[in-house]
Parts: sequence; structure tokens; C-alpha cells
Amino acid sequence: MKEILQKYEPVIGLEIHAQMKTKTKAFCRCSTEFNAPSNSNVCPVCLGHPGVLPVLNEELVNFILKMGLATNCKIKERSIFARKNYFYPDLSKGYQITQFETPICYGGYLDIELKDDTKRKIGITRIHMEEDAGKSIHDFSDDESLIDFNRCGVPLIEIVSEPDIRTIEEATTYLNKVKQLLVYLEINDGNMEEGSLRCDANISIRKKGEEKFGTRTEIKNLNSFRNVADALEAEFNRQYEVIESGDKVYYTTMTYDATLKKTSPLRSKEEAHDYRYFPEPDLVYVEVNENKLESIKNELPELPEEKKLRFKKDYLLPDYDINILVQDKELSNFYEQVTSNLATKNEKTFKTSSNIILSEVLRVLNDEKIDLKNLKLKPVNISELIGFVSRNEINNNTAKDVFNEMFTTGKNASEIIKEKNLIQVSDDNLIIEIINKIILENKSEADRYKSGESKLKGVLVGKIMKESKGKANPQKVNELLDKLIEN
Ligand code: ADP
Ligand code: MG
Ligand code: ZN
Repeated sequence: MKEILQKYEPVIGLEIHAQMKTKTKAFCRCSTEFNAPSNSNVCPVCLGHPGVLPVLNEELVNFILKMGLATNCKIKERSIFARKNYFYPDLSKGYQITQFETPICYGGYLDIELKDDTKRKIGITRIHMEEDAGKSIHDFSDDESLIDFNRCGVPLIEIVSEPDIRTIEEATTYLNKVKQLLVYLEINDGNMEEGSLRCDANISIRKKGEEKFGTRTEIKNLNSFRNVADALEAEFNRQYEVIESGDKVYYTTMTYDATLKKTSPLRSKEEAHDYRYFPEPDLVYVEVNENKLESIKNELPELPEEKKLRFKKDYLLPDYDINILVQDKELSNFYEQVTSNLATKNEKTFKTSSNIILSEVLRVLNDEKIDLKNLKLKPVNISELIGFVSRNEINNNTAKDVFNEMFTTGKNASEIIKEKNLIQVSDDNLIIEIINKIILENKSEADRYKSGESKLKGVLVGKIMKESKGKANPQKVNELLDKLIEN
């Protein structure tokens, strides 16, 4: 791909569908519960029986307005719904209610930050409301398909970006930012694997330096970050081959096969007139007045950017730590619970808390493949452990060992430290005794260190720490070793 990138550039726009965590469906009172028995959350409205009337769920409007405000969108005072007509077995109405000409949110943007610290602004064309279709189940038997209508009428919002994205990293960073906001706003669970967040990726390519966009294709239903990245790369390469061979790219809907790592055409791309859009006659206008907007603004929770600033101010952490902690709402909450339980709150204990979470907590979550909410260790257990470090009773390395012991045995830090007699030795006389012993036993290393081979200090400190069973206060060991060597 590297060589192609010297000649060609991808132009990418994403359409992200996010299932809203409203209690009930978009236009009826059926539950949106995910694991309900098939066809149990249905009623005449979402099944599309003749003569029924849809009623818009106000919670859905509140949710989309939150996302609109969080992505700097303008809000339409008056928007309407449309019918998008198409036949699909799991769409019994024969049309989907969606917003077409007047999306409720439009003209927004998100700032993204890339790995090399460059910032990019990605435009958001529109965010609109629509309903999901049911689910066809084909793998139940060889000669029958089943249909589950529970998902029919479940509310979605579709977030459409401008074709402002120029690299695959930008695409996944933008997608991640959208996901992060949805989760912070508590309107979507951010779960791509379960399909509550789905992405269609549009891509075209053009010669470097050229103004005009090429013809795009749209890759449907990508359900992981990996797939978005891989599908875009595969499609970029495919379009490159097509163009280099003298052919042209056609406006097509593509599908991506993750095992073959290949995109292939699904159908020629449908155009708006294929759907015979017309205004939904059964629904009134959606009106958003100043009061409504004001109350939604007041309900907005703290968003990632504000949280980062607060973490910097309140906890004096380095940006690196802040970015990882704030990336995940749960993780940042966990951090704040740990720090709120600390007996001594200062820059050092805040940083130690972050160290334990970023190195130890994240490692066990990853090793055990569990979520933070399934972690048996509670924030208060970790605060206790950090107390020992801040009182200089154990050092950072011992803290890591104790953490692991806490994780495997479920015991408290104090129990483990007492049982294993881990309180560190800060008594000068005891440490001097150990240092003298090690200097005697390692005469040549000690002499070489004295004559200026500074790298030998590490060796000596290591031996001293080992002799003390890891309990010597490392700072004292360092100081005292130098004093004793001088003599
Ligand atoms: P459709 O309903 O046909 O998918 P939308 O307007 O919902 O159309 O979405 C079009 C998407 O394609 C947007 O994300 C937009 O940024 C992107 N797009 C438009 N033109 C191009 C292009 N030439 N190359 C790449 N992406 C494009
Ligand atoms: Mg589309
Ligand atoms: Zn219903």
C-alpha cells in the first residue's frame, strides 16, 4: 500500500449507525430488550399492520439531540420523517421510517487527534433518526429461514461524515471518537460485535494533488474496528488495480469478507429515487424549541475533552496517562474511585494510582479477558494498597507483587503485606549491614563502580535488593551505597 500512497490518495466518508438505548422502540411502546425470546417484543405498530399509527418516542429525540450537541451540529427547529420504501422479508411494513430531506442535526464536526499529535477536523454532514428492521435467521436449518421481528422499530441514529477522511488511521480514530461520545452520553453501548454500532465505509481514490473526487463505493455493515481498517485497505487496493488497468470504478455497494480480506460487489448502488421517498403522513413534525434545547444542554454529562482538562488540573497527571484513562469512561470512573478513597491525596499518590491502573489493572483485564465491571478487586482495595506505597512502607515493585497476590487470592493488601512480612526496611543500620555484605562479596564489581563504571551500580543495587528480599527502601539503598563506596 505504501508505494500506491505516493501516487494515489483515498477519500473516505463514514456512515455510522448506532442503536439507541431507549427503553422502548421508536414509534411504539414495545421494549428494546436485546435478549428477549424471538418475536416477543412486537405489536401491530412495529409489525406494520394496516391502519395503525406510529407515535414518536420523545426519549429518542432527547438522545439524538445530545449527540448533535456533542458533535457541534446545528439543530433543525422543525424536521420531518420520510418513508423509504423497499421490500425485505424482515421489514413487514414494506418501508422504513427515516429522516431524508430534513435531518434533525446537521453541519457539525469532530476534532480528532492522530498518533503523531496532528489534529484533523472531520465534518459531520448530518445525524438523523430512523428505525431498524427485523432479523432474518438463515443458519437455523438448511431449507428454511426464520424471522425475528424484535429488532423491528428499534431506534437508530445515523451519523454521516463529510468525505473529509484521508487515511485509514483517520477513519478508525474518527470512528473511535464517535463511539466514545455515544458511550459517554449513555445513549449507545458502543458494542460493534453485537451490532449495536455498525459502520458503512465509503471510499474513492484520486491521484495525488487532484481536486476532483473519484467515484465512490460503499462497503456495508462493518462490525469491528479491524474490519473497517482492513476493508478500506482492501477496497483502496482494488480501486487502484481497476484504475491502473485502465478501467473505471463504478458506483457500487460492496461487501467485505474478513477471512479472504477482500471486498466484492453486493449490488449496483441504489439511488435516492429507487426508494420513492415521501414524507411520512402518519407522523407530525418534530419541533425543537429553545427551551427543549436548553434543557438537553443542561443534561449533557461531562464529555471526554472536558474530563481530560479536569484530570490535568485535579490530578496533575501526564497527558499519556490522561488519554488512556479518559478514553474509557468506566476506567476513568474507576480511577476517580481509587483516588477518592486515598488517605493522602497528592501528586505522588495520584500518579501511583494511575500507574497501578495502567500497568496492573489493564494487564489483568487483558490477560483474563474480563471487563472492569467483572473485576473482583474494588477501587477501595487498590486505594489501600496505594496507602502502603505513599507511607513508604512498600516500594513500587512490591506493590505490583501485592497487587497480583490480591488479584489471585482475593485478600486485602494489608493481610498480604502482614503475612509475607513485606514492610520495607528503611532503617539505615539494617540497610548498611546488607550493603557492606554485598560489597565484600562482590569486591571486583564494587571496585569497578568506585573507579567510575557507573553501569555497575544497577548490578550492586539489584544484589542488595535481592538480599533484602525486595524489602529495602530503594531510595535509601541508592544513597547509602554511594556513601559507603566513597569510604
Ligand atoms: P447514501 O445514502 O448513498 O449512502 P449518504 O449521503 O448517506 O449517501 O452517505 C454518503 C457517504 O459517502 C458520506 O459519508 C460521504 O462523506 C461519502 N462520500 C460522498 N462522496 C464521496 C466520494 N467521492 N468518496 C468517498 N466518500 C464519499
Ligand atoms: Mg449509505
Ligand atoms: Zn411495537
